[in-house]
Amino acid sequence: MSQETKDCIFCSIIKKTEPASVVYDDDTCIVIMDIQPVNSGHLLVIPKVHIPFVNESQNDIGEHMFQVGIKMASALKSSDIKCEGVNYLLADGEAAGQEVFHAHLHVFPRFKSDGFGFRFPEQYYEMPERKVLDEIAAKIRSAIK
Ligand SMILES: [Zn+2]
Repeated sequence: MSQETKDCIFCSIIKKTEPASVVYDDDTCIVIMDIQPVNSGHLLVIPKVHIPFVNESQNDIGEHMFQVGIKMASALKSSDIKCEGVNYLLADGEAAGQEVFHAHLHVFPRFKSDGFGFRFPEQYYEMPERKVLDEIAAKIRSAIK
């Protein structure tokens, strides 16, 4: 066992050496209740292999995580948990707000006036010209592998 996975809370939960409220479990991932929910019903979809960032994962782990996330959203909406909408949130990297460096997808219920929201930087309110968008699109397009 590497030091990295030994100290990882999600690896410990997957090995059942740390407690968690498990909602779903398959060959590739588990879904647990977030211990600090934004709203009641806040779930974490976690791959069973220790990968820090989902874009560095092999094969189709990210795809599977999202499929399971959608399944969880349907369950939330069918349950009696207050859920008028769902956010799927995946923070890939510290600058993106990632706190546990074992990839995970947040799936949580939303409802009007629940107090959660995004804070946008100032430049958000100055929409770029089409030329700028096209230049950036070209940079990203040429980097697709
Ligand atoms: Zn881990």
